Amino acid sequence: MNSKEEYVSGWLLRCIVCGYAWILEVSFDIRDAKKIYHYCHKCKRNTFHEVLARVEKPR
Ligand SMILES: [Zn+2]
Repeated sequence: MNSKEEYVSGWLLRCIVCGYAWILEVSFDIRDAKKIYHYCHKCKRNTFHEVLARVEKPR
């Protein structure tokens, strides 16, 4: 039994263009990255995102 597999761990990111917040499911530490350049599903293009928090939630 491995209870860790029942959780999604990731980072809460927010697009600085439209304000849409979503969870990037990666395990590595991006806390020190102030801005993440990533695809935003609202803007439908790559935008900068700010890292709001570390999250772990049930699947
Ligand atoms: Zn956006």
